[in-house]
Amino acid sequence: MEPLAEDWDRAVAVVAHPDDLEYGAAAAVARWTGQGRQVAYLLATRGEAGIAGMAPDRAGPLREEEERRGAAAVGVGEVSFLGYADGLLEYGIPLRRDLTAAFRRLQPQVVITMSFDLTWGDEGPVNHSDHRAVGLAVLDACRDTANEWVFPEAGPPWPGIRDIYVGASNRPTHFTDVSATIDAGIASLRAHRAYLDGLGGDFDPDQFLRDAAGYVDLVCGAMLDACAPHARWVDVFCERGAFGADEARAVLAAGAAAGLLPRVHANQLGPGPGVQVAVAAGAASADHCTYTDDADVAALAGSGTVATLLPGVEFSTRQPYPDARRLLDAGVTVAIATDCNPGSCFTSSMPLCIALAVREMRMTTREAVWAATAGGARALRRPDAGHLGAGARADLVMLDAPSHAYLAYRPGVPLIAGVWRDGARLR
Ligand SMILES: [Zn+2]
Repeated sequence: MEPLAEDWDRAVAVVAHPDDLEYGAAAAVARWTGQGRQVAYLLATRGEAGIAGMAPDRAGPLREEEERRGAAAVGVGEVSFLGYADGLLEYGIPLRRDLTAAFRRLQPQVVITMSFDLTWGDEGPVNHSDHRAVGLAVLDACRDTANEWVFPEAGPPWPGIRDIYVGASNRPTHFTDVSATIDAGIASLRAHRAYLDGLGGDFDPDQFLRDAAGYVDLVCGAMLDACAPHARWVDVFCERGAFGADEARAVLAAGAAAGLLPRVHANQLGPGPGVQVAVAAGAASADHCTYTDDADVAALAGSGTVATLLPGVEFSTRQPYPDARRLLDAGVTVAIATDCNPGSCFTSSMPLCIALAVREMRMTTREAVWAATAGGARALRRPDAGHLGAGARADLVMLDAPSHAYLAYRPGVPLIAGVWRDGARLR
């Protein structure tokens, strides 16, 4: 991802409801107002239908007041409300005209709005219809604002809108570092007390915003900058409790922009989006693939992404083994590796992993040896390794056994009689 440009003077942030900007964007607004830029808020509704158990005639004024206080917490003084009915917002000419009038009056170079995607994330809940209506109307009103023949009654045209920033998009392309202003952003969300109380439960604005913004931004920003010069790959742990699909995509996109090739830790602990994220990103490898469904298998089969299976992990953790047969029969390229690490599998023995692949995952010995050599090389995008032939590296082992099948037939027995690396015999 690229950082958002900070070379403008005036922005208008347009959303449907009080609190929409406070779920993240406000921390960026605080940064910009702190740099001396002007930001005005424009709300299509007063959010009067947003609090269960509180009648609109009470909730409306309360939420308007909360929005003004939240805006003040991030340095925004100008807050206006268009007064549309909360929950019933329609994309259409009246909304476009009102937005155009506001843009012509406020003359922004940048217009900020929030996601008008149909869903939050690819598999998340449906985005509010008011958000979808506002987002679309904002896009069109930005064009209308510059056209003297559209809404001439709404003031003289303003041709100066240069960019539209869309917050909380499913496909983020840009970021803003809010580490210095996240506290103001949190204060801004906390100002919506009646609304947050209405949500009930134990929602914590601090934790929500820090989790949502802080860590992924850190990974995609300073952390990546520090690591990228020393790395070839960007590897994201996409799993419940680690990075979600959207976050994983952001990490991979940031890594790709820094010249790193993608790979993904996918579907080890349970079903999830990891495999799909890996395939969509063109990852060299989706590692683990312990839990895969039909769509995952189909996606892998039609892709250049290798499914790297790590049977030593299942051996060590007593989890079920991945369904290697199903992957192979579907035409997926399969690799086997040890995943040697002190947490979930502390073996570095490839012969053991081959034996497990054959015994526990029902691979043939031929498939297992191929996956442990040529498959691994493909997962690392190393055409020079993993096979013997002219131009290859000549890394090889010689077995003291009548056939390679003995790797599976005599598990735990040392069979290696010789090792060559790069054509030179090591032992
Ligand atoms: Zn909203």
